[in-house]
Amino acid sequence: MTCNTRVSAAEIAGALARGETSSVEVTRAHLHNIERHDGAVHAYLHVDAEGALAQAAAADERRANGAPASALDGVPIAVKDVLATSGLPTTCGSKILQGWVPPYDATVVARLKRAGLPILGKTNMDEFAMGSSTEHSAYGPTRNPWDLDRIPGGSGGGSAAAVASFQAPLALGTDTGGSIRQPGAVTGTVGMKPTYGGVSRYGLVAMANSLDQVGPVSRTVLDAALLHEVIGGHDPLDSTSIDQPVGKLADAARRGAEGDLSGVRVGVITELSGEGYQAGVLARFQESLDLLVEAGAEVVEVSCPSFVHALAAYYLVMPAEASSNLAKFDAMRYGLRVLPEGVENPSAEEVMRATRDAGFGDEVKRRIILGTYALSSGYYDAFYGQAQKVRTLIGRDFAAAFETADVLVSPTAPTTAFKLGEKLDDPIAMYLNDLATIPANLAGVPGISIPSGLADEDGLPAGFQVLAPALADDRCYRVGAALEAALERKWGGPLLDKAPGLDPSTGSGQVKLDQRNGDAR
Ligand code: GLN
Repeated sequence: MTCNTRVSAAEIAGALARGETSSVEVTRAHLHNIERHDGAVHAYLHVDAEGALAQAAAADERRANGAPASALDGVPIAVKDVLATSGLPTTCGSKILQGWVPPYDATVVARLKRAGLPILGKTNMDEFAMGSSTEHSAYGPTRNPWDLDRIPGGSGGGSAAAVASFQAPLALGTDTGGSIRQPGAVTGTVGMKPTYGGVSRYGLVAMANSLDQVGPVSRTVLDAALLHEVIGGHDPLDSTSIDQPVGKLADAARRGAEGDLSGVRVGVITELSGEGYQAGVLARFQESLDLLVEAGAEVVEVSCPSFVHALAAYYLVMPAEASSNLAKFDAMRYGLRVLPEGVENPSAEEVMRATRDAGFGDEVKRRIILGTYALSSGYYDAFYGQAQKVRTLIGRDFAAAFETADVLVSPTAPTTAFKLGEKLDDPIAMYLNDLATIPANLAGVPGISIPSGLADEDGLPAGFQVLAPALADDRCYRVGAALEAALERKWGGPLLDKAPGLDPSTGSGQVKLDQRNGDAR
């Protein structure tokens, strides 16, 4: 029997339940795709073939005994390398954690294991999740499966590229300012940032604790909802975890896919849908809005005036928290230790300096300096304090907007995938990618990105973002699934079918994705 890796996680789960395939077979097929394509894409930093196959065999045994552990038991998954995995390297894309093997699992990883999802490996990312292109990884960039000369977004470009190139049906990402949603937009995949506190952060190596959130990366809205149900819900190990059940998210997605949005008020955020966006991105956004109206939704315009300051506030709050978090990488406790050259009996401070100099990349150093400055006495009120006030205003803008709209929408990212190297030396240009995604992190509200179509002359994808009030994640799934269904009817299938794919021998986009991935064994 062959196993088609192009199908969704829900379809794989269905085939497993009907006994049409086995988890070992499905896992092998994905490992085979990794072997064939990851040389070119570089979505993974570490592949655990042996571990994944052992977990798959255990899943098959549970099924044979009539006791699957969850709806997704046996469906393999990739995990962003910022999440602690016991026995598997966890580097956060940084040299400073090279060789570190955590002695424990992040709660979300423990939940994947409990639900029976074999872990294929750890995915590439910008160092400590700082970036929008995955070019800041100390282990080399990930490439966009749509065009290998382009970025897959960041910081979770590895997870998005793995899913877009059928090297995993599902992945976990983390989103501090857009790192799940923006990679989703530029790779034609689905990415969901849950409500802050809705998914445990225990074992997520923190960049900015008050903004970070773990979430699903997938090819369909339903798959994201199914995965969210596995990882979400209260965790006593995370003091910011919300003590509430995760909710019926997959049901919301299924209901949305039926296509009836009557009575749903969709708010278009004025500040996030005009200037600074590529024309094609805006055109696809408008078409998606028209489809929501056809499905019965009412579209209203809402203004969130403080959103124009979101990026500036984020680049004070985030580095402030990151500078404090990264102080623990001191060469003493774990990870890299570099002895300064030519210094006899170096002091602890000299070892720390040499280690941090060699172990951290430029972007990480930039943010440590920025954050330390913003928090220093005399500047604290002027920078960090001001940014926190803006954050409060952004929360108020959301609250006011959600009085007139059930969900808020915008394009996910301002442009389609740019070329590797294009923005690497221009931090501000890089930061601007998150213009539309950052407000949700500052306010803690959930947001999903779903593919909205091909948005430029090169045939590259763009994303449509749906934001909902805190704890109303189900609305993202309902509206997202309705739009996905309408768009797929229009396209005659999933957007990824339109990807030119890549030729593993030349590394360039000529071979259809079906050829490279269809019916892999
Ligand atoms: N690109 C943003 C940054 O560089 C967001 C990163 C993220 O969400 N982890 O901070």
